[in-house]
Amino acid sequence: MAVGSAERLTDDGTVRSPTDVLSEAFARHGADRVAISFSGAEDVILIDMAVRLGVRPQVFSLDTGRLHAETYRFLETVRERYDLALEVLTPNADAVADLVKRKGLFSFYRDGHQECCAIRKIEPLKRKLSSLDAWITGQRRDQSATRTAVPFVQPDIAFSRPDHSITKYNPLAHWSSAEVWQYIRTHDVPYNPLHDHGFASIGCEPCTRPVGPHEHERNGRWWWEQADGKECGLHAQNIRPVRIVG
Ligand code: SF4
Repeated sequence: MAVGSAERLTDDGTVRSPTDVLSEAFARHGADRVAISFSGAEDVILIDMAVRLGVRPQVFSLDTGRLHAETYRFLETVRERYDLALEVLTPNADAVADLVKRKGLFSFYRDGHQECCAIRKIEPLKRKLSSLDAWITGQRRDQSATRTAVPFVQPDIAFSRPDHSITKYNPLAHWSSAEVWQYIRTHDVPYNPLHDHGFASIGCEPCTRPVGPHEHERNGRWWWEQADGKECGLHAQNIRPVRIVG
């Protein structure tokens, strides 16, 4: 069987397309128990594909309070384009206030991004995942050194609990950046306008910068840290087997 740009061999030799993986997620868990995590260009492709499959997907986004103004407008553009009940998750206000009071607004430049990301991203995500059985992400293998082994489907060992298993689906795991942008152009999918200004991978404003034409896309994230540690905790198991507790 010929394998086109939208279809790739899995590790066990079967052919899968992103819509095949998406369909499996919705069929296995039901649209009310699985959600698409939305922040970047890949995630809008997943929303677009789900809508084309006839699914009204549950979609959430993490508002850390530190996003670019363009990103907030982008969220609204996507909400309106696909008529989504987009859920915007916010961090615990007391935890944010405590961190800022103790360490200021830019402590991540001094002692790493983990503490701030834990408060502004991980805790809200953990809260949301407690109401789901699975989530769908736009992770791709060629995004960074930490994602080279991302499979289509995996148990989420970082967020599962002994009494509650979470499954993570990565339908675009084998797609290249070129394939992402080909889909966006072909289907007129909305994207963050910061991409037109040199930003390849977009996170929080203080932790994201544009990259050069031949630089790796994740080089613009937490550029003051080592490349093999550039995960905010949402996908911590890419770095090492972890279980987030508490
Ligand atoms: S990316 Fe930066 S600003 Fe955003 S939560 Fe992490 S450390 Fe904080």
